[in-house]
Amino acid sequence: MKLLHSGKVRDVYSIDGADGPELLLVASDRLSIYDVVLPTAVPDKGAVLTQLSLWWFDRLADLVPHHVISATDVPAEFAGRAVRCRRLEMLPVECIARGYLAGLGLKEYERHGTVSGIPLPPGLVEGSKLPEPIFTPTTKAPVGEHDEFLTFDEVAGLVGAPRAERLRDLTLAVYSRGAETAAAAGILVADTKLEFGLDPAGGIVLADEVLTSDSSRFWPADRWAPGGPQFSFDKQYVRDWSAGLDWDRTPPGPEVPAEVVAATRARYVEVYERLTGRDWS
Ligand code: ATP
Ligand code: MG
Repeated sequence: MKLLHSGKVRDVYSIDGADGPELLLVASDRLSIYDVVLPTAVPDKGAVLTQLSLWWFDRLADLVPHHVISATDVPAEFAGRAVRCRRLEMLPVECIARGYLAGLGLKEYERHGTVSGIPLPPGLVEGSKLPEPIFTPTTKAPVGEHDEFLTFDEVAGLVGAPRAERLRDLTLAVYSRGAETAAAAGILVADTKLEFGLDPAGGIVLADEVLTSDSSRFWPADRWAPGGPQFSFDKQYVRDWSAGLDWDRTPPGPEVPAEVVAATRARYVEVYERLTGRDWS
């Protein structure tokens, strides 16, 4: 095995020669906020997110082919947090769907009244439900840079119009399925980020991770109260904690205290348990 890429959160290995058709994606317990990896790990995070992604890939398979080959036939040291997958030519777009206003989408709306060039009605506030889910793609920024919103036409310029349409339709379809499934567990999916790649025949395949607490904003439906920050099942808790620090959001990130780590771990586990109906234990 050869380490090809160490991302903020995952390590990517080739397993059948440097250019072979398969990759091993290994999720670590690393936590990143504002694109900065924090020095403190969250125990079990890699395994929880890997298992949640696998659960979703299965439940989305009728909408879009996915990259998973096996999650059991993996080296023992990575068991539970590794996925063997088809190596794809990744498309240079972060495919984001938003059903509620938060994060960068909120900032963009406050500045321009639009997100990714899509006009939104006036009067929306943090946490507002959008009239309908929207496709708000961004660039996939290299390490150290931040993602920027792309309009639909800019995506079409990058990947061609037919593929851009397909990416939008698939992203919204995955979001709808995800939001509907999560609603039954009392969870709102405020937004989610997907990554797609091309297989050797040019087919679009869902890759990376899907509908996890790292790639999505999950809010407990019974605590949803537009007009301010929402109680959140993801790393928003750590972001909110870091807002009270004198930290400029550039590396190095701050050490996270044990109680913030424990509360964050509990949120990752709770989402897994509520969505899948399984015990993490
Ligand atoms: P990066 O470091 O690449 O900017 P990142 O910090 O988000 O991004 P991780 O998410 O930790 O990186 O690592 C996963 C990487 O593997 C991403 O670059 C993702 O695009 C890539 N990837 C996911 N699935 C596949 C696949 N099936 N084929 C090829 N690459 C993939
Ligand atoms: Mg990533």
